[in-house]
Amino acid sequence: MRVRFWGTRGSIATPGSATNRYGGNTSCVEVVTGSGARFVIDCGTGARPLGAELAENASRPISLAILLSHTHWDHIQGFPFFAPLFLPGSRVAAYAPHGSSGSLSKVLAGQMEFTYFPVELEQLPAEITYHDLTEGEHEIGGVRVIAQFLNHPAVTLGYRIEADGVSVLYLCDHEPFSETLWRSDAEPGRLESILHAGDRRHAEFMVDADLVIHDCQYSPEEYPAKRNWGHSSYRYVVELAAAARVRHLVLTHHDPAHDDAFIEHLEQEARAVAAGRGSPLEVSCAWEGLELAPEPRQARPSSAAVAATAHTGGVRVLLADDDPDLRGIARKALTRDGHEVTEAGDGAEALRLARENPPDLMVLDLIMPELDGLEVLSIIRSEPATARVPVLLFTSLGGEALIRSGFELGATDYLTKPFTMPQLTARVRACLARAATAR
Ligand SMILES: [Zn+2]
Ligand SMILES: [Zn+2]
Repeated sequence: MRVRFWGTRGSIATPGSATNRYGGNTSCVEVVTGSGARFVIDCGTGARPLGAELAENASRPISLAILLSHTHWDHIQGFPFFAPLFLPGSRVAAYAPHGSSGSLSKVLAGQMEFTYFPVELEQLPAEITYHDLTEGEHEIGGVRVIAQFLNHPAVTLGYRIEADGVSVLYLCDHEPFSETLWRSDAEPGRLESILHAGDRRHAEFMVDADLVIHDCQYSPEEYPAKRNWGHSSYRYVVELAAAARVRHLVLTHHDPAHDDAFIEHLEQEARAVAAGRGSPLEVSCAWEGLELAPEPRQARPSSAAVAATAHTGGVRVLLADDDPDLRGIARKALTRDGHEVTEAGDGAEALRLARENPPDLMVLDLIMPELDGLEVLSIIRSEPATARVPVLLFTSLGGEALIRSGFELGATDYLTKPFTMPQLTARVRACLARAATAR
C-alpha cells in the first residue's frame, strides 16, 4: 500500500515562505492498494495537484473513490478543481457521512453554484456516483473500509482502510470527548484506563494499526482556548495511539497560524510524549509530498501478539475450509509462523474438533458443506468451552450482509478471498493480539 500526502493544512489554505516545508494546501491524502484500488481521502486544496498528477500519469479511464470525512470547506474546496472530474470516462465514487444538511451531491453542488463557481456539478463529464455512509464495515473498490464517527461540530467519519496486510486510519477532524484522559484510579497509558467511553472507543478504533493519520491542530497549551472547535492536541493523540499500540502516527491538519518552525517544535514535543510512555510509537508531522509504504506487521509483530505466541510457542489453530488446496497452503504458512494446525473439511467436522479439543484460534470459511461458518460460529459462541475463542472468517467479495452477521455473532475479524499468505498470518497475529488484550 502506498500513502501520499497532498494537503496537510487545516481550516484554510496557507501558502507562503513560512509554510514551505510542511505545506499550505488543505486536507488531501491519496491511498493506493496493491490491487490498484485508489482512494482520495478528503478533497481540500491538495486535491488540485493530485488531480493534475493523475490526469497526466494515471492509466485511463481513471477510476477512484473519494472518502470525505465531512463537508467543511477545508475538506471539499479542491473538489471543483480535481482534474479527473473533467475527463470523460473517469469513474468517481464519492462517499461521505450522511449529514444533517442534505445529500452529498446537494452539498457538493452547493459550493459549485453559479455565484461561486463557473461550472455546475451536473456539467462535469466524469461519471460520478454519490454514497452516504454511516458507521460500520464497508467494501469499497474491493477493499475493506471501516467507518466510525469522530467528535467534531459537523457529522464526521474516520476511516480505517485494511489491505495488503496493513491497516491505515485517517482521523480528521476530531477533538477529545473529555479533557481528562485517564481515570484517577487506574494506571495511565492503557486502553482500559481511558476515562471517557468515547475516547476509549476512538483509541480502540486504532488498535494495532500500522499507520494513523490524525488531526493535531493545536499544542496542549492552545487547546483550552479552542475547546469545542473540533480539533486535537498532540498530547491527546500520542497518548491514545501509544495505548492502542499503533506503529506510526502522522500528525496533520496543521493550524494555519503555525509556521514551519512551530510545527517542527510540535513534532519534537509529540515524540517526547511517546518516549515518556516508553512507547516504540513513531511520530511524524505530515508534510506535502510525504509518501509512506506501510509494510505488513509480520516482520515486527505487535507486543501483544508476541506475548500470545511466545507464551505457548505458537498457538493451536483449527482451520476449517472445504477447499483442500487452500487448506494446504494456509497450513504451511501458519505452521511456518509457529502454530500447530488442525484441519477440517466441513462445518460439522470443525464443530466436532472444536468440542473435542478447544483451539486457541479458529479460522472458518463462511460457505462450507454440512454446517456453514456462521452456523458453526453461533454454536461455538453458545458453548462455554469455546465461547471466547477468537474466530477469523474467510469470506468472498460482496458478502457484506454475511460479514455483518458474522460480527454480530462474535467473529473477531474476517479476511476476504483471494488473499495472500502474509495477509493471513498478519491477520491471525492481529486476532491473537486482540484476544490477548481482551483477556
Ligand atoms: Zn478541517
Ligand atoms: Zn471540520
